[in-house]
Amino acid sequence: MPELRQNFFTKEWVIIATERAKRPEDLATHRVVQPTPAYVETCPFCPGNEGRTPIEILRSPDDGQPWRVRVVPNKFAALSSTAARERDLRHLRRRIDGFGFHEVIVDTPDHSQCMALATDAQVEDVLKVYRQRYNTLSLDRRINHITIFKNHGVDAGASQRHPHSQLIATPVIPSQVRQRLHEGLRHYDDVGECMLCHLMENELEDGALIVLQGEHFAAMEVFASPTPFTTHIYPLRHMASFGDISDAEIADLAKVLRTLLAKLYVGLENPDLNFTVRSVPADYSKAKHFHWYVSVIPRLTRVAGFELGSGMFINTVLPEAAAEFLRCVAADKASAAGA
Ligand SMILES: [Zn+2]
Ligand SMILES: [Zn+2]
Repeated sequence: MPELRQNFFTKEWVIIATERAKRPEDLATHRVVQPTPAYVETCPFCPGNEGRTPIEILRSPDDGQPWRVRVVPNKFAALSSTAARERDLRHLRRRIDGFGFHEVIVDTPDHSQCMALATDAQVEDVLKVYRQRYNTLSLDRRINHITIFKNHGVDAGASQRHPHSQLIATPVIPSQVRQRLHEGLRHYDDVGECMLCHLMENELEDGALIVLQGEHFAAMEVFASPTPFTTHIYPLRHMASFGDISDAEIADLAKVLRTLLAKLYVGLENPDLNFTVRSVPADYSKAKHFHWYVSVIPRLTRVAGFELGSGMFINTVLPEAAAEFLRCVAADKASAAGA
């Protein structure tokens, strides 16, 4: 029977259409992996072509050794760091000059790399740079929210093949974030505990949605998942802001994230995907009612008229089946598959 499930955070209902159900493996891309060179002369992110990017913000390491991760302003930035942050309210029209920061994090010097096939240490380097930029930009009083994200593959919006992530810092709090903060606060006021600490306690005990667990993080399918294989990675201890992650936790997150990406790579044959760090606006960093997480969303289906018309999604894969499928995929086959 089909089933409707409600997302505890967004209050959105989704239809889990088991009548149309697909087995998880039916969503595999059957994509033939094209060999990609490790260096491309025309690529602005490849080593040796640093002059083709705007002036570098940072590189890691910065001790004169060849860089492993680099941060540069986005050449085609969505927002401008030199704009004023003037608000203009006129009747129902609200506008602000397009102030903000839009940065590119070059994940690796290797053009052919894919995070799913990288080493845990490489992913750790990238996450440390995320934290550094997140904490630096959080100090800017003009900034109210920071989104870190990665687009992998054309269907996920990647315009450059060279592995990279992005960060956009905005002068406003997006309504999605505000809604989650409100729901988190409502739950905290009603029940006296963080909604996501509560969720994790329940899900870890139940186990059906868990994909994998590290020392400090757990990856799980979402009960009311709007799209197949939407997976969240939560820190096990309560933490509202990604900026508060410790070095030991970064090492564990690198392992859990890389293993999850490898499972998706092997099980669904290198699907296009996005992942994003969902954290609080800077002023809420010590909030008891919000808990940051990483959301990984493979782009396996397309949004159609019903979703646009109702805001309700139809998901054809039962999240419990997706979790079981991913638990059984051997992540260590990823490096063999990519070789
Ligand atoms: Zn490149
Ligand atoms: Zn919590």
